[in-house]
Amino acid sequence: MNKNFKMQCCETIRNEIPQIMEISEVVSEGKGQKSFFFKHRISCKPGQFIMVWLPAIDEKPMAISYNNKKGFAFTFQVIGEFTRALDALKKNDKIGIRGPYGNSFSIKENACVVAGGVGMASVSTLIDALKNPWIINGARSKEHLIYAKRYKSKNVLFATDDGSYGKKGFTTEILEEVLSKNKKIRIVCTCGPEIMMKKVLEICNRFKIECEASLERFMACGFGVCGKCMINDKIVCIDGPVFNSKQLNEMTEFGKFARLKSGKKVSLGEYHSAHS
Ligand SMILES: Cc1cc2nc3c(=O)[nH]c(=O)nc-3n(C[C@H](O)[C@H](O)[C@H](O)COP(=O)(O)OP(=O)(O)OC[C@H]3O[C@@H](n4cnc5c(N)ncnc54)[C@H](O)[C@@H]3O)c2cc1C
Repeated sequence: MNKNFKMQCCETIRNEIPQIMEISEVVSEGKGQKSFFFKHRISCKPGQFIMVWLPAIDEKPMAISYNNKKGFAFTFQVIGEFTRALDALKKNDKIGIRGPYGNSFSIKENACVVAGGVGMASVSTLIDALKNPWIINGARSKEHLIYAKRYKSKNVLFATDDGSYGKKGFTTEILEEVLSKNKKIRIVCTCGPEIMMKKVLEICNRFKIECEASLERFMACGFGVCGKCMINDKIVCIDGPVFNSKQLNEMTEFGKFARLKSGKKVSLGEYHSAHS
């Protein structure tokens, strides 16, 4: 076998096979939201994700939400079967992790980051990499807001649906105000419910500002083989999960349709009420 090919195989295999890792710390981030920390180094860019494996249960993508010299973490929100099983785990329990996968957000000056709910996890290492970005963090209520104290800057703004923390209303309303008053903002990066990201894109189009969104679709393999995460002609796990304005504007399915575990294309409403 050619020497170079052997080298490539070894490097790829190291990422593709789940490594069994011990949870070194569990941090409660909000109601039904936890971060699991691992004392392992991971080389990744902001916006990339890992596949988290619970044997005999499932394997799901999770954003890398903390990453430094001591290790990394992911943050999850309890939604269905898989995240309920994660929620039952404790410090020193072991899980399988492979990756990182996917592309990453652009790191540009004069950025604004908009996140809804646990979408904050996907933009958190981007915020760490940016120089004093605007941050708009929204959730249903104060108890569902994650990382409320993580970023110390006067440019951090909060929105809750019920007004229990920050402004009562949606992140998109704050975004419109911020873009109206700050003409220097050049890019908006977002993650959260797709309906919110679609609105963020529309606002960016109106203000003629670049937008990048990380799409959280049902995903099975993470490396482009199964096609379960397809949106139009894009495979989210390898072409994304981060897409730019041009790509998002061309996606007729963005904010409208998603695929269930079976691969069936359904309306976004049906997707969120079905058990993916
Ligand atoms: C690239 C990528 C990164 C991700 N990063 C994270 C992360 O950092 N933290 C995290 O908690 N999750 C993240 N997710 C979503 C995660 O992989 C799971 O889909 C989610 O946790 C639900 O899994 P579950 O099995 O518990 O629920 P399921 O049984 O799959 O779903 C239960 C219910 O919730 C709905 N649902 C599923 N996913 C979502 C969603 N994203 N938003 C709203 N409703 C949904 C389903 O339609 C169903 O009604 C990411 C997804 C992708 C593609």
